[in-house]
Amino acid sequence: MTQFDVDLFIIGAGSGGVRAGRIAAGYGASVLVAEEYRVGGTCVIRGCVPKKLFVYASRFAEEFEDSVGFGWTPGETSFDWSRLVAAKDKEIDRLNGIYIRNLERSGAKIVQSRAEIVDPHTVRLLAEDRLVRAKTILVATGGTPFIMPDLPGRELAISSNEAFHLARLPEKIVVVGGGYIAVEFAGIFNGLGVETTLIHRGDGLLRGFDADMRRTLREEIEKKGIRVLLNETLAGIEKSGDGLIARTNGGEAIACGEVMLATGRRPNTSGLGLEKAGVALDGSGAIVVDAYSQSNVPSIYAVGDVTNRINLTPVAIREGHAFADTVFGGKKISVDHLGVPKAVFSQPEIGSVGLTEEEALAEFEAVDVYQTSFRPMKHTLSGRDERTLMKLLVDADSDRVVGCHILGPDAGEMIQIVAITLKMRATKADFDATMALHPTAAEELVTMRQPTTRHRRTA
Ligand code: FAD
Repeated sequence: MTQFDVDLFIIGAGSGGVRAGRIAAGYGASVLVAEEYRVGGTCVIRGCVPKKLFVYASRFAEEFEDSVGFGWTPGETSFDWSRLVAAKDKEIDRLNGIYIRNLERSGAKIVQSRAEIVDPHTVRLLAEDRLVRAKTILVATGGTPFIMPDLPGRELAISSNEAFHLARLPEKIVVVGGGYIAVEFAGIFNGLGVETTLIHRGDGLLRGFDADMRRTLREEIEKKGIRVLLNETLAGIEKSGDGLIARTNGGEAIACGEVMLATGRRPNTSGLGLEKAGVALDGSGAIVVDAYSQSNVPSIYAVGDVTNRINLTPVAIREGHAFADTVFGGKKISVDHLGVPKAVFSQPEIGSVGLTEEEALAEFEAVDVYQTSFRPMKHTLSGRDERTLMKLLVDADSDRVVGCHILGPDAGEMIQIVAITLKMRATKADFDATMALHPTAAEELVTMRQPTTRHRRTA
């Protein structure tokens, strides 16, 4: 008889946990996965997937407008929020089913319960008040929206979790935050006809992205009708009749139907029993792990958002896979966190990979910037005042392309491919040698001949 009930106990059936469970089970490990909400995790249930479906929904209003320039006369249009939510829920149920089936087919077992760690080899399943002994424990509990604890009226606000299930679409909304979730939801609501105000305490949206992208995005979303208040904070929320009043520290009182807080996410570690097991956390509450996702307690590993490395689904999946390969597959594999492409499904979209101009200047002596801004072909007839921005950053000494940033339609699709070239350490000469594909927006990436700026560090 073995000392353990299972080889691997996974807490959380999200992107990282599901992948780790499937791969470990494939190597013959006995795997038990505990999920307290729904299998699939944030990305599938209340993140990337439903968000992108909402983004698609919100783009149609502009499509109808743009069609006029191409000879169309769209009829009367109307939008039914509850039909969208129901269609989205049906798709999420389908994906949830696929995730459950795939996990079970691999041989892993799922238990619907919150799980908490008791000691380095023991987990408690709260739903059954049962203890499970595991040789290895993987914490894959993801992140959770951060709501300012001292905000007056915080209970009146929603986070992205609730935004997916609003009973009614409000006429007016205040979205608070400057990160990608705030910007994406502001675009969704605005596109669906909601009068949208975006409040952000910083002096620019999307901290960490290239400055030109950040500035241009702000200009473009303002053109679309989103009111952007920067260097402004929310003082509190009050009820007013059927609606709410969002008060800012600058003295504004904004009447609205909903206030959505998208003010960051925190690693989901509270109440997990990690301290009892002696697992080290960093200042943000994230589990500190090494390159193989192992914590300071040898039997406890962690992958995904709970480690707060790069909080994206494909990263969590890779980390989960590498963990299973390392611990159960006899292949020591670490995840390369460099050159991870990022997209913001704002309107217009942003795709970004590699260094920002600021970062490139800090790292290299000589940086050439190739930048172009143009009106997408579609808008020559639609008449829409929207521009696409593209930027390549080149280390002038090696000629290597070290960053690429795109703002415009399909930027996410383009940047995925550009990311391969950066991973291959492509040079500007490689881009130049590549034949353009005409007529596309992407052809601009291989036809920018002259640097728009040459930075040279002076001694
Ligand atoms: P999660 O997928 O969050 O899974 C954690 C699971 O653990 C959850 O199912 C949770 O219920 C469960 N759990 C937590 N505690 C316990 C417990 N004690 N016991 C049992 N179960 C527990 N990423 C992208 O790459 N692209 C995007 O476009 C994108 N859009 C996003 C939009 C939104 C609104 C949000 C919120 C996130 C988005 N993300 C996106 C981020 C992405 O969802 C996460 O990076 C990813 O889901 C992380 O995977 P994970 O496995 O770490 O955790």
